[in-house]
Amino acid sequence: MDAAAAAVRTGPAWLNDGFGHIWLPYTQMGTAPKPIPVVSGSGARLKLADGRELVDGIASWWTVAHGYCHPHIQAAVEDQLGRLPHVMLGGLAHEQAYRLATRLAGLLPGSLDRVFFSESGSVSVEIAMKMAIQYWRNQGIARSRFVSFRGGYHGDTFATMSVCDPEEGMHSLFRGALAEQHVIDLPVDDDSAAALDACLSDHADDIAGVIVEPLVQGAGGMRLHDAATLKRLRDACDRHGVLLIFDEIFVGFGRTGRALFACEATGVEPDIVTLSKALTGGTLPLAATVASGKVFEGFLGDDAGHALMHGPTYMGNPLACAAANASLDLFESEPRVAQAAAIGRFLARHLEPARDLPGVRDVRTEGAIGVIEVDALRDNPWLKQCFIDAGVWLRPFGNIIYTTPPLAIGEDDLARIADAMVRVTRAWSERFHGG
Ligand SMILES: *Cc1c(COP(=O)(O)O)cnc(C)c1O
Repeated sequence: MDAAAAAVRTGPAWLNDGFGHIWLPYTQMGTAPKPIPVVSGSGARLKLADGRELVDGIASWWTVAHGYCHPHIQAAVEDQLGRLPHVMLGGLAHEQAYRLATRLAGLLPGSLDRVFFSESGSVSVEIAMKMAIQYWRNQGIARSRFVSFRGGYHGDTFATMSVCDPEEGMHSLFRGALAEQHVIDLPVDDDSAAALDACLSDHADDIAGVIVEPLVQGAGGMRLHDAATLKRLRDACDRHGVLLIFDEIFVGFGRTGRALFACEATGVEPDIVTLSKALTGGTLPLAATVASGKVFEGFLGDDAGHALMHGPTYMGNPLACAAANASLDLFESEPRVAQAAAIGRFLARHLEPARDLPGVRDVRTEGAIGVIEVDALRDNPWLKQCFIDAGVWLRPFGNIIYTTPPLAIGEDDLARIADAMVRVTRAWSERFHGG
C-alpha cells in the first residue's frame, strides 16, 4: 500500500500521533471519533488529507468572511511578518494597531471610538465587563452585576460564562462557581419589557450594565429578535442609568446582511461593543472592545488608579492587525453586506421545502445565517456524517441544523449547502419521524 492510500485509510501520521495528546473543544475524548484532517483551504472550500473537498458551511466558527487564503489578506500578513511580527503595545506603537483603531472608530456609529485590543472574543467581553464595573467605581459607585438574556452566549471564561444562558448545556455544570447575574428574557414585548424594568429598578444599586447579542443570539441557537427589542433595551438602560454592552462578536462584520454592525443597522447605540470572530477575516486571533466617549471619559483624570487595569501580552498583535486592516479593505472594496443579504434570500428560498417535514419546527434566515430548527437532533454523529458524505461541513447543535457560510461564497457552493441541508433533514425526518 502506498503512502497516499494508507493516509486515506488511517489519516496522516501527525493526526494519529497527536490524537493521543491533544485535548479538543467541547469533546468527550473518551468516545470522540478522530477529527477530519484538513490540508488547505481556498474560497469556501476545505481540502482534506484524502483529497476530498468540503464546502465550509460554517466558515470556521463564523470567522472566514472572504473565503480561505484570500490573496489580499495573505499579502498583508506576509508583508507584516517580514517587518515586525510582534511588539508590545505598552510604551511602543506600531502602525497596524493604530490604523485599525482609527478605522474601527470610523466604521462604528456615533461616539463608539475608543478601541481596546485583545486576542479572543471571551477576553474582549471580560474587558467590556471590567470597563463597565470600573466606570462606576471610578465615580465611587460599587456596582458589580450584569443583566443578560436567556439564549445568550458571551464566551467560555468565568465572567463570560456567568452572563451566558445558565440552563443551556454548555455551562450549567459550573453553576455555583460563577458570579451571580440577572439572566432574564429579552424584552421582546410589553410583559418582558416590564420585567426588565423591574429587574433594573429592584437592583439599581448593583447593576453595572446590560449585555446582549444584538439581533441574533448565535451559539445559544441562532435565535432572532428585532430592532425594537434593542430600542427597548436602550431606553431601559437610559431610564435606569446603566451601561449597555452589545456583543457583536457573531453578528459584526456584515453577517446580518443589514449593515456592517448591528448597532449601525438598528440605529441603537450601545456604550460598549465587542468584536472578534470575522475581525481578521478568519486569519488570526484578534478581538476589540470599543467604548463610547462617555465610557472612556470615566477613566480620565490625574488619578493613576482610574486607568483601565488590563493589558493582554499579545494585544494589538501586528500580524493580526495587518490581517484585520486587509479584511477591512475587502469590506470596503467588495459588497460583503449585500452578499450576506443575497445569501439570506437564497437560503430563505432553498431551505423552505424543509419547513413541512415531520419533526421540523422552524426554518429561518437572517442575512448569511440559515437555520432549520427541529424538535431534537437525536443522532448528531449520523447527521454530521451525512453532511460530510454530501460534501459539506456543517455542525448541527442543540436542536438546529444551521449554516453561516463565508460571505463571499459562490452560488454553486451555497446551493450545495442548502441542498444538503434539505436532503439530510428529509432523511433525518424519515428516519426519526417515519415522515
Ligand atoms: C464566539 C463568541 C464569543 C467568544 O469568543 P471566543 O473568541 O471564542 O472567546 C463571545 N460572544 C459571542 C457572541 C460569540 O459568538
